[in-house]
Amino acid sequence: MKILVLNAGSSSLKYSLFDMAERTALLSGLIERIGEAESSHRYRLGASAAQQQALTCRDHGQALQTLFSLLRATLPSGLSELAAVGHRVVHGGEFFHEPALIDRRVIAHIEAAIPLAPLHNPANLSGIEQALHLLAEVPHVAVFDTAFHQTLPDYAFRYPLPSQLYSEHGVRRYGFHGTSHAYVAKRAADYLGKPLAATNLITLHLGNGASVAAIAGGISIDTSMGMTPLEGLMMGSRCGDIDPAIAFYLARTLGMELDAIDKLYNKASGCLGVCGENDMRAIHAKAESGDDSAKLALAMYAYRIKKYIGAYYAVLGRVDALVFTGGIGENDAWLRQTCCEGLTAFGIAVDPAANAAPAKPAAAISPAASPVAVLVVNTDEELEIALQTAECLVKRSN
Ligand code: ADP
Repeated sequence: MKILVLNAGSSSLKYSLFDMAERTALLSGLIERIGEAESSHRYRLGASAAQQQALTCRDHGQALQTLFSLLRATLPSGLSELAAVGHRVVHGGEFFHEPALIDRRVIAHIEAAIPLAPLHNPANLSGIEQALHLLAEVPHVAVFDTAFHQTLPDYAFRYPLPSQLYSEHGVRRYGFHGTSHAYVAKRAADYLGKPLAATNLITLHLGNGASVAAIAGGISIDTSMGMTPLEGLMMGSRCGDIDPAIAFYLARTLGMELDAIDKLYNKASGCLGVCGENDMRAIHAKAESGDDSAKLALAMYAYRIKKYIGAYYAVLGRVDALVFTGGIGENDAWLRQTCCEGLTAFGIAVDPAANAAPAKPAAAISPAASPVAVLVVNTDEELEIALQTAECLVKRSN
């Protein structure tokens, strides 16, 4: 079975074509700068070297046409080989607890969640509408970043704000990165040789955006991102948890408008705000050259992760494994070591030799006798979307 996964951003289209029997990507690529005078297309066929193509894509429809031409040339029987298309959708609100076969009703519910994700959901919808139009004969499935966290109990997802803000306006914590947390939780349980339903995990997805989840028996019971992806950990350019009253101060004292504060919190804060860099490799290079602001950014980043590890340990009571994933979680040995330092009383420790170069796609970096395993697991959000799409098709046919 072949499944195409699409992730439509405001000016980009990321895609992967999976052979589900082998669980391998036959083709993956990214079309960027859609809508600009010159777009770019990078793609990779199987394990071959990446290829680059300059082109002009006016909109997602043209980007999809480019992709479909490539698919026709790649698949021996063309597009008829596709069993389904899985679409990444950022916000499913409270309506979607699992993937949904896309029809007009599902589209209306994704539209209804636009106020909760005004940048992401319209782009995701544009990709869906164009793909439905161009590939009407294939089932399309929406897979939501928020769905995995719909199991949070009310005392974890509610904000201590007036109740009608929740009941009438949906102001609550939703959580994001659900496909990644779900995927690495399954891989971690496999690695530990335990059923997922009996496994308690703290999963740390550390990429440009970053979030932590407390997973009890395979179920998400808390997560650090909230109503938007701004809450929680310090990130590349997002501030994460800060005193909400800082916004009042910025408005009243510095005369900042709401949009400027929004931009400041999302685009100019986090590591970027503290040291002028948002890429973790650049931050390390700057710190190594002696820059104090980069050293501070690293210390803050690790400290804030450690605080969540402590909090989620308390939430779970028993933890089988701490799981690092995402570009930073998978590659940054210093960070993994630093956020686990001083946690031996929790049964958490890192073996420096194992931490230096963990094997892919999953490896333990804790000493063998550690009560809590510390794992590095490579995430694969596209494969998880494909797996959830396949599951949705099976459920529909039963
Ligand atoms: P996204 O959230 O956009 O998917 P990724 O998961 O790819 O991002 O993570 C990007 C982050 O991973 C960047 O901050 C990058 O510097 C960091 N990263 C990638 N490789 C390394 C490395 N070897 N050491 C430290 N950080 C790394």
